[in-house]
Amino acid sequence: MKKHNFSAGPCILPQSVLQKSAEAVLNFNNSNLSLIEISHRSKDFVEVMDTARSLALEHLGLQNKGYQALFLQGGASFQFLMAAYNLLEKKAAYLNTGTWSSNAIKEAKFLGEVVEVATSKSDNFNFIPKNYNIPKDADYFHCTSNNTIFGTQIQSFPETEIPMVCDMSSDIFSRQLDFSKFSLIYAGAQKNMGPAGTTLVVIKEDILGKVTRAIPSMLNYKVQIDKESMFNTPAVFPVYVSMLTLQWLKDLGGISAIEKVNNQKADLLYNEIDRNPLFEGYVAKKEDRSKMNATFNLRNEELKATFDDHLKQAGINGLNGHRSVGGYRASMYNALPLESVQVLVDVMQAVEKGA
Ligand SMILES: *Cc1c(COP(=O)(O)O)cnc(C)c1O
Repeated sequence: MKKHNFSAGPCILPQSVLQKSAEAVLNFNNSNLSLIEISHRSKDFVEVMDTARSLALEHLGLQNKGYQALFLQGGASFQFLMAAYNLLEKKAAYLNTGTWSSNAIKEAKFLGEVVEVATSKSDNFNFIPKNYNIPKDADYFHCTSNNTIFGTQIQSFPETEIPMVCDMSSDIFSRQLDFSKFSLIYAGAQKNMGPAGTTLVVIKEDILGKVTRAIPSMLNYKVQIDKESMFNTPAVFPVYVSMLTLQWLKDLGGISAIEKVNNQKADLLYNEIDRNPLFEGYVAKKEDRSKMNATFNLRNEELKATFDDHLKQAGINGLNGHRSVGGYRASMYNALPLESVQVLVDVMQAVEKGA
């Protein structure tokens, strides 16, 4: 039975990418060797790493602009610490919009003072604060572009003279932005790019070298850049799958093309959530709704068993809300086809008719 995978992460990947990845595990580039049993320093793998790094910059429009792309390990959670280790001398400014921002703040506090410029915590992170002040004497400003758990997304980024750092784990490559506004972007691969195990880091080189602390090698962006993302053995399989996904996106027409589909998917689902009397938007305020993760719920909990049964019969997977929030969450990452959202909307309408 065909499945419709709305999982929040690890998430759906294009079928063609899964197919090619499976083949490479058995026979990589007709070498009769597996991708995962050859040297990461072999010509074939070095080419994979180089291609993945340059495709990432190409999609973001950051080639030849002083940026470097790295594929590191430790997840986005490791970047919470690594970013601060490399950039935080005295004081950093953080926007707190959810669990991931809060975790980033916690790690940064190991290294210096953190000013929380604004937070939506007292409202269960159901909106994105606006019109806050970013102190000019902070070393950098950090924000989270999309709040995977609560289903909110920054629609308009602030203007600031200090370097802007952004955790884009759950919406990277999903919409067009002026990425040159950011000095550091990081994203765990498993939301919109590949399997868990590698994290994309895009960094403007001129922001490095400004802190006085000694930085251990594994934590040092400069070392990782000098070693071309191979200071230690990289996560060869996750990097390869990420490269294939970035190629898939390029063949589709890049971010501008996928953004159109992402807008159609989000419109289709949110229109149904707002129209269908059985459902309501959950947690996220309308003006800050995420196009990647839509949080919603049944107005009447008694229909839960019926709705869940319909979902199962339609092959819909991964629709439960985050364990800390409850309700439902439809994650509509790049590889999820519009057709899958239509199947979900059909189920919502079938339950409405039967109820
Ligand atoms: C999932 C997620 C993280 C955590 O990623 P790990 O790779 O598991 O460390 C961080 N930030 C955001 C926005 C996420 O969605």
